[in-house]
Amino acid sequence: SWPPLAQQFAALGDAFSVPVAVSPLPDPVLVASSADAAALVGLTAPATPQDEQDWARAFGGHVAAISGGSRATVYAGHQFGNWAGQLGDGRALLLGDWPDASGGRHSCGYARWEVQFKGSGRTPFSRMGDGWAVLRSSIREFLCSEAMAALGIPTTRALCLVGSSRPVRRERIETAAMVTRLSPSFVRFGHFEHFSYSGQTEQLRALTDWVIAQYCPDCADAPQPALALLQWVVARTARLIAQWQAVGFIHGVMNTDNMSILGWTIDYGPFAFLDAYDPLHTPNTTDRGGRYAYGRQPAVAHWNLLALGQALLPLIDKPESALAAVDQFRPQYVQAMQQQLAAKLGLTAPQPGDGDLFQDLLDTMAANRSDWTLSFRHLAQLAADAHAPIPPALAAQFAREPQRFADWVARYRERLRAESRNDAARAVAMNAVNPLVVLRHHLAQAAIAQAEAGDFSEVRRLLHALTRPFDAHAAPAHYAEPPPEHAPPACLSCSS
Ligand code: AMP
Ligand code: MG
Ligand code: MG
Repeated sequence: SWPPLAQQFAALGDAFSVPVAVSPLPDPVLVASSADAAALVGLTAPATPQDEQDWARAFGGHVAAISGGSRATVYAGHQFGNWAGQLGDGRALLLGDWPDASGGRHSCGYARWEVQFKGSGRTPFSRMGDGWAVLRSSIREFLCSEAMAALGIPTTRALCLVGSSRPVRRERIETAAMVTRLSPSFVRFGHFEHFSYSGQTEQLRALTDWVIAQYCPDCADAPQPALALLQWVVARTARLIAQWQAVGFIHGVMNTDNMSILGWTIDYGPFAFLDAYDPLHTPNTTDRGGRYAYGRQPAVAHWNLLALGQALLPLIDKPESALAAVDQFRPQYVQAMQQQLAAKLGLTAPQPGDGDLFQDLLDTMAANRSDWTLSFRHLAQLAADAHAPIPPALAAQFAREPQRFADWVARYRERLRAESRNDAARAVAMNAVNPLVVLRHHLAQAAIAQAEAGDFSEVRRLLHALTRPFDAHAAPAHYAEPPPEHAPPACLSCSS
């Protein structure tokens, strides 16, 4: 028996969400589940074939105790910089919320988790879409949600992934799957935009008051609660984007409807982790202009926050104060990113020249097409002693311009003299922030190919490694390797 779901978002009323029945998946089969996510809501991941069947039925939409209160929420958004009008949950359904198993004392600090199916059939907001999600994209969302969480990056969680026999037409015929997602909230910037731009000011106020009461109650005490909420979202988004940049995560489709009001990562579509560093890389093949490329993510986040600020204007006294709040993004992001880079380089006490040191490393990495993950990971093995050799695995990342890298290393070693830690202590600290294993595209592709052939073991093995990303002994060595020379590049579109 499953714990009962409360219906807190539903209580806002039918202007915000409407009842929509789940379309259960035929022949549901549990592809994988996350024990860490299950623990958040007091569930135990399935251990026996019978448990797995129970989970497949429940999270494939066959159990009324789970799906009985399902609703689709309405939102809007800016897509690729253009106003897209009303969107809404076109293939996701909100089921309700479960209390946090620790009473809100775990790291994220919220007392409850909303539960959502993604890929559960058509809704009034499906527009031209079929309401389904295919196994391929669901594996990517499932694995990356849990990988990001293990990296310490705020993200919606993935409780489990259920496959089915339902055929779905994309470029080829694939099969439908459902991810059960958990998040304290699935409210997006686009929810506010919907009510604001359609002139529903009372609903905009109700949503704002509700979000403040649930997630940032201190904002209610501010002279202008909506302005305080905006400042809160700006600060959290600045920290989030710095974490994305530090780990080399490219979201791929940062439309305002894919921006969480909590400043959490949401909606894993055409995402990627950097392999060779290229600031203009995007995995999203429909993004021809590179709007959502790696290096543009901070500027796009700022743009999206402007859209949120604009949406909140009916609740804010002066437009200038909303603009000033949003313009705090830049200094907050820069500060957060400098902290991230300092930690990645094992520096503890900031120094005036650090910004140049960081930038020159990034420029050198771009010129060498250095692997983002391995360059930082191997930097921990560099001795501070000016006469020590550069470890071969590190040098190999800078094979195009070894002298340029050697010059940078000399400056870095000079900088390390201002630090009090010895090499060993610095290496431990760096290895705790620079992961060895990230969800590289080619690793996901291998797991997907096997799962499409009916073997889910690689999805589960990869999950295991991704949830211990800093541990050099947890994973088979090939999980840490960059893609083979001739691996096809990621070729992903928005909605699959
Ligand atoms: P996305 O680009 O995935 O963030 O989706 C943008 C909008 O399209 C959202 O309203 C989604 O719910 C909707 N959408 C995406 N894929 C589908 C689909 N297969 N069926 C119905 N709606 C979809
Ligand atoms: Mg989306
Ligand atoms: Mg999507």
